[in-house]
Amino acid sequence: MSIATETGSFAAPAVRQTGILIGDEWRPAVSGKTFKTINPATEEVICEVAEGDKEDVDLAVHAARSAFESGSWSKMDARDRGRLMMKLADLMEENLDELAALETLDNGKPIGDARAADLPLAIDCIRYYAGWADKIHGDTIPVRGDYFCYTRREPIGVCGQIIPWNFPILMTAWKWGPALSMGNTVVMKPAEQTPLTCLRLGELALEAGFPPGVINIVPGFGPTAGAAIVKHGLVDKIAFTGSGETAQRIMVDAATTLKRLTFELGGKSPNIVFADADLDAAIAGAEFGLFFNQGQCCCAGSRLFVEDSVHDEFVERVVSRASQRVLGNPFDSETTQGPQVDKDQFDKIMHYIDSGNKEGAECVTGGQRVGNRGFFIEPTVFTNVNDDMAIAKEEIFGPVMSILKFSDMNEAISRANNTTFGLAAAVWTSDVKKAHQIAASVRAGTVWVNCYDVFDAAAPFGGFKMSGMGRELGQAGLQNYTELKTVTMAL
Ligand code: NAD
Repeated sequence: MSIATETGSFAAPAVRQTGILIGDEWRPAVSGKTFKTINPATEEVICEVAEGDKEDVDLAVHAARSAFESGSWSKMDARDRGRLMMKLADLMEENLDELAALETLDNGKPIGDARAADLPLAIDCIRYYAGWADKIHGDTIPVRGDYFCYTRREPIGVCGQIIPWNFPILMTAWKWGPALSMGNTVVMKPAEQTPLTCLRLGELALEAGFPPGVINIVPGFGPTAGAAIVKHGLVDKIAFTGSGETAQRIMVDAATTLKRLTFELGGKSPNIVFADADLDAAIAGAEFGLFFNQGQCCCAGSRLFVEDSVHDEFVERVVSRASQRVLGNPFDSETTQGPQVDKDQFDKIMHYIDSGNKEGAECVTGGQRVGNRGFFIEPTVFTNVNDDMAIAKEEIFGPVMSILKFSDMNEAISRANNTTFGLAAAVWTSDVKKAHQIAASVRAGTVWVNCYDVFDAAAPFGGFKMSGMGRELGQAGLQNYTELKTVTMAL
């Protein structure tokens, strides 16, 4: 592992917005409280952000409700809605340098990744859904008797959107895109670790000309601001990305008002490498599929199953790649791995590394903290992992790869499915038949064949089993932001 120490050509930007967005106004919290957001690379305070709570959520929900009821958005000509969303995407593109740098400052991800992945994907997502605004339509249905029957897709209403810290700007786009395209209004709560880019996007939305109240943003903490959104009687839907435990809490809190719920949760995704695979591609894919974003990906290929005949060669080569990752200042363009997002995540990952060692897995590279400032952890690879170890069962959400050996396809399938999760999976093979058999047999919402982490706004994403409910992206993601109405008329 190399250490990047020099600051590259990118500089941290000035923070422009730290308030709560209600209607078209930026306000302090009603309580006057603020919280600190921390730079995970230096552990220094970046700034104080307004700490929204129940009263602020109530104001935001009322703003969203009256914007929805007024029809300023839901009844706007769908082409104009699409045009405003395109304008927002254009503004994001014009401000790409600043947004990427702000994302790196708040989250710690390498600037190269923010510029090449997070921003382009977020912009594309807003554009993709802008294009849908005037294209969703119902069906005519040939019912019995003398009736004319048709369906309409209508917006759900006010959508509470609660997002995590691993892809702050991308998750904002994934949530806003389909909701806004269909004419809903939103109250968003960014993660307390990373509120800054979402707030800046709120400014850009106002600059684009979104009517007041269509987008409201309440930074704050989960059990206070988050729970207040979930429990509010005037919120119709909750879209949540984060941990399974929080999703269970949200289900309970949303039960009294029977809100529509979509969840995108965690995973322990199997990445299956057969001996007949293009090993160069599989090794690069295994590295990227696990270490990208410091391992903080819900779909990380964290159970790497390698066929026994190529296991030793594979381990040697993947370890060599892992140890060439460049850890350090995320503003340096050479850096490929930044810090973990905060102290809690850092401690959780170090705990799993400790547990892997204690349970008898072999740590063949990494396993240590790097430096004493910032939450940096070495790229870590364990071999001799068995299915019962915590590192093979639980979501680590960090740069820790577990390699498991297998000897035939049926064994790979049954072990891949031996999990409560079902978000993603990948298979590497040159045998087309095997690829399709695996794709059909693995119980996961996404299966990548000879690739990893390929995302497109048009391709649905979401989990089987305890990895989620509903889908994001694509037309499926859009339908989760509509109610289906059936109209039957006597002829
Ligand atoms: P979390 O689920 O607690 O937080 C995610 C979001 O939910 C944040 O905005 C948070 O403020 C909010 N939240 C928390 N409690 C809430 C409540 N009671 N009501 C409403 N909203 C609430 O996740 P975390 O603590 O940041 O991370 C813990 C673990 O979750 C990670 O280690 C990782 O395993 C997993 N995780 C998964 C994803 C993903 O993309 N699926 C993202 C982040 C974290």
